Amino acid sequence: MYRKNAWEKYVDTKLVFDFAEGYKNFISVAKTERLAVRESIKLLEKAGFKDAGKLKSVKPGDKVYFINKNKNVCAFIIGKKPLIDGLRILGAHIDSPRLDLKEHPVYENGGFALGDTHYYGGVKKYQWTTIPLALHGVICKKDGTTVEVNIGESEDDPVVGITDLLIHLSADQMSKTLSQAITGENLDISLGSIPLAKEKKDPVKANVLKILKGKYNIEEEDLVSAEIEIVPAGKARDYGLDRSMVAGYGHDDRSCAYTSLLALLDTDEVEYTACCILVDKEEIGSVGATGAHSLFFENTIARLAVLTGEGHPIYTARIALENSKMLSSDVSAGYDPLYASVSDPKNVAYFGEGLVFNKYTGSRGKSGSNDSNPEYYAWIRKTMDDAKVSWQNAELGKVDQGGGGTIAYILGNYNMNVIDAGIAVLNMHAPMEIVSKVDLYEAYLGYRAFLTAK
Ligand code: MN
Ligand code: MN
Repeated sequence: MYRKNAWEKYVDTKLVFDFAEGYKNFISVAKTERLAVRESIKLLEKAGFKDAGKLKSVKPGDKVYFINKNKNVCAFIIGKKPLIDGLRILGAHIDSPRLDLKEHPVYENGGFALGDTHYYGGVKKYQWTTIPLALHGVICKKDGTTVEVNIGESEDDPVVGITDLLIHLSADQMSKTLSQAITGENLDISLGSIPLAKEKKDPVKANVLKILKGKYNIEEEDLVSAEIEIVPAGKARDYGLDRSMVAGYGHDDRSCAYTSLLALLDTDEVEYTACCILVDKEEIGSVGATGAHSLFFENTIARLAVLTGEGHPIYTARIALENSKMLSSDVSAGYDPLYASVSDPKNVAYFGEGLVFNKYTGSRGKSGSNDSNPEYYAWIRKTMDDAKVSWQNAELGKVDQGGGGTIAYILGNYNMNVIDAGIAVLNMHAPMEIVSKVDLYEAYLGYRAFLTAK
């Protein structure tokens, strides 16, 4: 069971470091699910993938993609075998924990204009205070137009942020638990402090709204139908004196989304139709039209069956899914030497030991997990070993220490074989998460091997 450190495999590490540069660029731009879809489509089109909505038919070797509400993308390379024989599916999520502006967000208090938020996904609230934050998203107006918001990323942009109490007056706060010291209702962003002259009621708020009107031509009420996500500002960076790691926002799960997508882009001919699906809403339970529970994926396979002209499309889609193999590409908790007590050292993911397989996630007796079949796991082991991919096995933590979920069990409902396979992350769900560059590269190699395996 000894696992060699993957760095030792590489005499020349240039491939590993170059791959990480592409990834750093991707996550520095793709800070929301919409932006991740946009960047993915750029990469897909550059690699010759065509918008399936514009096609009448497809044949083996064709490369196509489908988009759902600008928040999911599903790309395929059509295989030589019929769809009904099953697909090779790589699935990852492109949403990440963050703060969202409320529908009625802007208010004034004590000479400040503030933006009221509601956090999205599981966050340790104290980690989101006193750091520079950026705003990304869309404002949809009644006239049918959409305005895109992007503030805080370029050098000369302002940033926003959430204040925290000075240590000098924190006697009460410091005696609270970490979960109580910062409340969700207090995660409000500072938007401004200049009053609009002549305005009697809430002059600072009025000034901020005037700025928004000037920049985006919107009224306050337009924010009701907006989707503004507040995320850490700035680019992903090299981490560690040896530059072996990447520090950035959204490794969960854009590290697996990017490597899955690149694996598909760098694959050519396939026996079984190869697929990469990127979904939204995983961090809040894979719900809604753009989450993994949505019928979008099943419907997309049916649409694909229409394009391949194969049998009854609904029947073909159902049976194709049943005969499919999937890697649920999602991150795993990396071993942290500072918090070693939460992990079982034999069943934890170590940085540098490659692609992580989780037979199950879940919590309290594997509850809520997709407990993968051992027959399938054996096939996975052979596939990885034949391709000389560095891989390891892990659970999220010690038994009854906590737990988590992925989209694996949702696709498992189609009666397909699914296993979680991803990248070890430190600081998971924090504004600055960490991954290893060699794990990123091994994940890419593992995903590629999976797509073409017999
Ligand atoms: Mn995840
Ligand atoms: Mn997560």
